[in-house]
Amino acid sequence: MSQIRIHTFETGRLVGNETFLRGEGWSSLLRRRRDYEFPGYSFVIEHPGGPIAIDTGMTSRARSPRPHVQRRFVPRPIAGQEIGPAMRARGLDPADVRRVILTHLDWDHAGGLAHFPGAEVLMHRPEHDFAATRAGRWRYEPDLWPADFTPTVYDLDPEPYGPFPSSKALTDDGSVRIVPLPGHSIGQVGVIVRSGDVRLLFAADHLLRQDWFLEDYQAGRLLSLGVFFATQARETSRRIHEFIESVPTVLVPSHDDEAPARLNAMSPLELANTVTEADRSQLMPQEATR
Ligand SMILES: [Zn+2]
Repeated sequence: MSQIRIHTFETGRLVGNETFLRGEGWSSLLRRRRDYEFPGYSFVIEHPGGPIAIDTGMTSRARSPRPHVQRRFVPRPIAGQEIGPAMRARGLDPADVRRVILTHLDWDHAGGLAHFPGAEVLMHRPEHDFAATRAGRWRYEPDLWPADFTPTVYDLDPEPYGPFPSSKALTDDGSVRIVPLPGHSIGQVGVIVRSGDVRLLFAADHLLRQDWFLEDYQAGRLLSLGVFFATQARETSRRIHEFIESVPTVLVPSHDDEAPARLNAMSPLELANTVTEADRSQLMPQEATR
């Protein structure tokens, strides 16, 4: 099966507290801050059914983000690198993008919505509903979204995909799927793209770096970046770990400096080496028929 082409866009960088980002939760805020700088990525999948964007990146507009975000994460948008111009610089037209998947609604993922005025923007219902609450308005700043913004709000189908209890196939060939990754936010989703024998797991902000995630998981620290919804976050960590143990996976979080190199090389994690094809088709029976 042919490989799918993925384009990575870095719209800016952020500086956060490493202790907090490693999943030690709010208690880390009591300790000395250790600055860690990391990128913010968005992706465009070139698919025969039309390009699909995963997130829209940061905006460089001065009024965003608000002071409460500034205090915790110092945003550093890269001039001229909002996703629209960045796509054009690589010969891609944002107007060709038919669908935008928002993994969640944080400002560094929804900041570039204005670059896709004609696209259908897919918003998972729990994210949509949370954004309307007081806490959601504080966190997501919906007043920064385009004035005429009308997302397509969807529910996942009760169709398990591997360890994920629900999913949504976005393409007729089933090669692009949305899976739930609650924890960092209540309705966060990931995207799984099948490319040949490898699965690309776009894991949004559930984890910050692959190496941290694996190390923390081994040590029993399952919170990752799920401090907001801790119970769901631990379950999501278990599911992601089960997935990467079962299937050769290129893990692509939104803020991992090493993710683009892994994507370019299509080099999957080694964890799945002991699993046979029969085990795999048992885990994901819906793929065996394709
Ligand atoms: Zn983020």
